Amino acid sequence: SMIARRPLIAGNWKMNGLKAEARALAEAMAARFNSVGSVGFDMLLCPPFPVIGTVVGAVAGTGIAVGGQDCHAKVSGAHTGDVSAAMLADQGCQFVIVGHSERRADHGESDAQVRAKAEAALAAGLVAVICVGETEAQRDAGQTLRVVETQLEGSLPAGATAQTVVIAYEPVWAIGTGRTPTLNDVAQVHGAIRAKVARVLSAEAAAEMRVLYGGSVKPDNARALLGLADVDGALVGGASLKAEDFWAIGCAT
Ligand code: PGA
Repeated sequence: SMIARRPLIAGNWKMNGLKAEARALAEAMAARFNSVGSVGFDMLLCPPFPVIGTVVGAVAGTGIAVGGQDCHAKVSGAHTGDVSAAMLADQGCQFVIVGHSERRADHGESDAQVRAKAEAALAAGLVAVICVGETEAQRDAGQTLRVVETQLEGSLPAGATAQTVVIAYEPVWAIGTGRTPTLNDVAQVHGAIRAKVARVLSAEAAAEMRVLYGGSVKPDNARALLGLADVDGALVGGASLKAEDFWAIGCAT
């Protein structure tokens, strides 16, 4: 039977957005949501921690969700500079990105740490957006599927469901570069991810779980990427900072 997975368009603002910019961008997205009766996709904004409250306030009542870009694995304690999933939930977040390749690279996050963060997210009532993806060297060496499957095996929390976890496939070499895999390559990896989720969790979870593509998604390539059968949305960096582009990507679903 056909299972309808509602597309999710997620904006990863990364380390961009002072208060005034963040408010303007969130208000611009809210205005677009309010200007149409309903949309056929879910929208998520993931701003930097200091402006989460600003963004939550700006999108209140629109249905646009807000998420963090990372969280600590613990609920509270002596972890200077870190933010817990419970704090994000308390600020009005419904989602948190974990295991983004920039966190894995800049902060040496392992699959086990990513899993611990995802578990913390679920415990706090957040949906975890778990990121996986190969480097260019790994792709050139023909290791893409093995790398992604290993990351999933190591970072999916036990008991994860399609309601509590979203997977984002982001080839590291496609992030911020303007380069994307071929549609065939994206389809192959997304198919492998869904098959892996079926083995690690269940066939039901695999059929219902949203698997996003991320890496240089723009208005002009969104329709083709989002049209692939196993692509259930996008995790968007650069283009999520422009209201018009981010909205156009949503409308391409
Ligand atoms: P990009 O970033 O859209 O700028 O390539 C995607 C991401 O890192 O999530």
